[in-house]
Amino acid sequence: MTGNGKEIKNKYEVVVIGGGIGGLIAATILARNGLSVAVLEKNSYPGGVLSSFEKDGCIFDNFGTYIYGAGFAEPVNFLRQALSVIDVNPELLPVEPPMEVFTPDKSFTLLRDRKEFLRELNEYFPSFRRELSEFYSELEELYEILLEIPYYKPMGRFSVLKTAIFHPHLSEKLILNSFNTLNSLYKRYGFSEELKSIFNNIVAHFTLLRSYEVPAFISAYLLIGLHREGLYYTRGTNAYLVKEIVKAAQAAGVSIFTDSNVREIFVSNNYARGVILSNDRVIHADRVISNTTSYRTFTKLIDRKYLSDNVRHSYDVIENADSFFYLYLKTDKKALRHIKSPNILYIPRLSETYDKSDIVRIFIPSMIDNSLVRGKSHHCLIISTPQDVLGWKDRTHTEKKKEAMTEKILNGLNNIIPGIREASSVIKCNSPLEIEEITGREDGTFGRKMDFRQGLYNRGGNKTALENLYLAGDSTFPGQGIAMAAYSGKLCAELIIRERGKKLPI
Ligand SMILES: Cc1cc2nc3c(=O)[nH]c(=O)nc-3n(C[C@H](O)[C@H](O)[C@H](O)COP(=O)(O)OP(=O)(O)OC[C@H]3O[C@@H](n4cnc5c(N)ncnc54)[C@H](O)[C@@H]3O)c2cc1C
Repeated sequence: MTGNGKEIKNKYEVVVIGGGIGGLIAATILARNGLSVAVLEKNSYPGGVLSSFEKDGCIFDNFGTYIYGAGFAEPVNFLRQALSVIDVNPELLPVEPPMEVFTPDKSFTLLRDRKEFLRELNEYFPSFRRELSEFYSELEELYEILLEIPYYKPMGRFSVLKTAIFHPHLSEKLILNSFNTLNSLYKRYGFSEELKSIFNNIVAHFTLLRSYEVPAFISAYLLIGLHREGLYYTRGTNAYLVKEIVKAAQAAGVSIFTDSNVREIFVSNNYARGVILSNDRVIHADRVISNTTSYRTFTKLIDRKYLSDNVRHSYDVIENADSFFYLYLKTDKKALRHIKSPNILYIPRLSETYDKSDIVRIFIPSMIDNSLVRGKSHHCLIISTPQDVLGWKDRTHTEKKKEAMTEKILNGLNNIIPGIREASSVIKCNSPLEIEEITGREDGTFGRKMDFRQGLYNRGGNKTALENLYLAGDSTFPGQGIAMAAYSGKLCAELIIRERGKKLPI
């Protein structure tokens, strides 16, 4: 167990379970405000979803690839805001153009210039020219509302009302649209099944949610954000972004202990008092922040007897979510000559949901940062496809299943990248089982579904039902991305600082 060469102490003011981006940012802000903070990370390295590996002259991100919410538009540039509080300033490179989409018979590029993109789409769907333009105008309006909301936190129904009362010019639009989903937007425009399927799969490519689960505001954030703010990637991999945050954390005095698995949160009289490590060591803390998902925190780290019936029930009925199968390839550049964007979405079947469409995402980080491959002749490809985790739970024949999945992906991709099999060497693959092992997320998912609409509502926020227990990470903040996980760490630290009677800004 290491912690900048320090020995782990018996007591801290704050203990953070997990060294993902959310936990590390919360820890850094708190330490900079004078608190003694320890981060306990089960792996031998921090980063969680944002970790990387090197093999055969290529550096690959394990999981997290493109970053949205990292542009410049205040206040929705969540990543830049969170990093600026701790003076971390990584080089964020634009993913340019942000996306290229292949369907069975069409391909188009999501250019930053929205007019150009719409022109391309209009060529394929001339009968929806007016509807497409109106759909985008409506999304743009929603995006503008988001830009006007003065501060962000997960919004329950009451906080939507409160925001509307304090900002009357937003009230009508905010209230009316807060209960809409992407699906309800479609109803106004009478889009064809094909067109809906394209938008559904673009949004699912970010969220793994279905159109009736995605709030209209989140759809606007993603679909308009692609053009207005774009997508980003950290020079040197997103794990490098974590390295920079770790440096800031250590400079602020945070002790980061790796290989330190928390087995249980130690609770008495409805107060979190500390944690118990796998080796039975008890570490006391005035406050505990869990950076693992809220589901895992409340179902695996806390004895059920400490939970109220309500809390127990809310986690018992929580919906399953999907995970991914990841395939990492080293591919000859010549086979990728026709590829325009480092971020590809392949929709082999135009069907309403991503599972029936069998979507495949390809991210090519070396097209953005060529230092990630040794030599100039290859690219590294991070390929992922959604998976129903039930298929992986029975751990028999896992290797055979991985081989079959690899074959299926390569066969499918041959339609858009002819000769990909011959041009590539398979570096490795990760099933939901390995994603769970590395990140500690149940079934390797984005986080189970808190509610059928995970958007502005019912993402739990940082405060929990137990006193002194807080959550930081993507299961607490709408939008479920890297930027949102980072921002949730900022909100969590600010909440604790406020509760201790100090003033913000910090
Ligand atoms: C497979 C996958 C791919 C994703 N891809 C993207 C993407 O491309 N773009 C994007 O914007 N978002 C993506 N996300 C969404 C995700 O929100 C972000 O990637 C974000 O990095 C998550 O950060 P986090 O702080 O919430 O937690 P995590 O990165 O999950 O970190 C949690 C940490 O806690 C540790 N931990 C867990 N349990 C314990 C324990 N009991 N004791 C000690 N330590 C523990 C874990 O080892 C891990 O290091 C992806 C998510 C997943 C699951």
